[in-house]
Amino acid sequence: MNAVNEQAKLSVPQLGHFIDGQRVAPASGRFKDVFNPATGRVGASVALASVEEVDAAVQAANAAFASWSETAPLKRARILFKFKELLNQHHDELALLITREHGKVFTDAQGEVVRGIEVVEFACGIPNLLKTDFTDQIGGGIDNWNLRQPLGVVAGITPFNFPVMVPMWMFPVALACGNTFVLKPSERDPSASLRIAELLKEAGLPDGVFNVVNGDKVAVDALIDHPDVAALSFVGSTPIAEYIHTEASRRGKRVQALGGAKNHLVVMPDADLDQAVDALIGAAYGSAGERCMAISVAVAVGDVADTLIERLVPRVKSLIIKNGEQLDAEMGPLVTAEHKAKVAGYIASGVEEGAKLVVDGREHPVAQADGFFIGGTLFDQVGADMKIYREEIFGPVLAVVRVPDFASAVALINAHEFGNGVSLFTSDGGVARAFGRQIKVGMVGINVPIPVPMAWHSFGGWKRSLFGDHHAYGEEGIRFYTRYKSIMQRWPDSIAKGAEFTMPVAK
Ligand code: NAD
Repeated sequence: MNAVNEQAKLSVPQLGHFIDGQRVAPASGRFKDVFNPATGRVGASVALASVEEVDAAVQAANAAFASWSETAPLKRARILFKFKELLNQHHDELALLITREHGKVFTDAQGEVVRGIEVVEFACGIPNLLKTDFTDQIGGGIDNWNLRQPLGVVAGITPFNFPVMVPMWMFPVALACGNTFVLKPSERDPSASLRIAELLKEAGLPDGVFNVVNGDKVAVDALIDHPDVAALSFVGSTPIAEYIHTEASRRGKRVQALGGAKNHLVVMPDADLDQAVDALIGAAYGSAGERCMAISVAVAVGDVADTLIERLVPRVKSLIIKNGEQLDAEMGPLVTAEHKAKVAGYIASGVEEGAKLVVDGREHPVAQADGFFIGGTLFDQVGADMKIYREEIFGPVLAVVRVPDFASAVALINAHEFGNGVSLFTSDGGVARAFGRQIKVGMVGINVPIPVPMAWHSFGGWKRSLFGDHHAYGEEGIRFYTRYKSIMQRWPDSIAKGAEFTMPVAK
């Protein structure tokens, strides 16, 4: 495979940046291979920006801000409406770019594009979303109202696992609010971002309002450091989220940094087991477990565990795992060879620490194929002290933890360092209500395995799954991308003569 890769590299396209309304050839001389995970072959070579290239993108965004922030929200919305139409037209093209660089199955990639489009649809409502409160006559002849004004240049740094949807959690809302944007997508699947930049331009977005710089830590640090970047949105792993939150906050920037996850699905004894098993199979193995809302722990309450395992085993063994471009595929490969090795390492560690390996994905025939495939894996009798329970694996590995009762399930989940998503399967409304209120997790599903909030709600976890005050998109997104201002006004005919030395109060 290496010889093939060396030859293929000679002819692969080089992916540069998109700055000030056009594709810009790379200048740093640093590149990274972008693989098709289903074949293991290099499909492109992505540029890794220098500090100077990042500066060029920020300068373009800064120059565009004055006019864009003064553009009427309705006009901004019209460009987003046009962008949405283009996204509908290019829906499958974007989905294919995702499948070819990320590896997730095509139908799943189509769903990802739809969830991104929904945020654009939400942002199209910006004239109404920016409408604020007004109080007539707070005192004699005085009115008080508030404004939400854009921040300036904002940067988005995104992970590999949703190359279309996660950037679209950010920039449609940021742009609608009047900010300009610099996106630093994942270097593992950068093509979709460049295509999106072209579609925004085609929709009529002025040059410089949306820019893409490809790159790695050098580019991210340059964005953190740049004095003209007012705010950063980050989505990725927890150590990087914490780093970006700390460093950017220290420089006085506004930051939201969404991190990693370990999502539990609790199966109560009164749950419909057919539904719970379907939910677990889809949520643990869909997208090869490379979702921040993937279920990676099944919490079996009471005597439900043996039956649950019995039913899960044949389903895990019969997953259809192949190149995601084939429409009957249920699960594709992992994103890179390194990530496959990391997931295999976690499986080995689970065995060493004494968990019962019921289905071993390393033994699946697909794991020997070209590409970065591994089979679905199932562990039983996993303990809360084990590494495979504590850490995010981000692969198709489901751990079953047995607990005696509902209270132990809640205590287990609340003690975990992550608090992104959680799900409960039950037919008891009282238990469901108690769960929703007691659980220390940001996104809760009752008989819903992956409760990703709709575009007009907001997305975000608790604990070490999110650093910062605001969740992403929805009204929280509007708040994050705008600065609040209160204005109080009166006119000369209502102003009494003479200075006042007491604290002003309503009269
Ligand atoms: P990652 O943290 O490796 O990379 C995310 C971004 O950070 C990329 O753009 C990358 O280039 C950049 N980056 C990587 N190393 C860096 C460094 N040392 N300094 C500065 N920047 C750096 O994450 P990933 O592997 O691309 O994505 C998977 C992770 O993202 C998982 O942990 C997953 O849970 C998380 N995620 C979270 C959410 C959420 O909403 N909470 C959503 C999607 C993914």
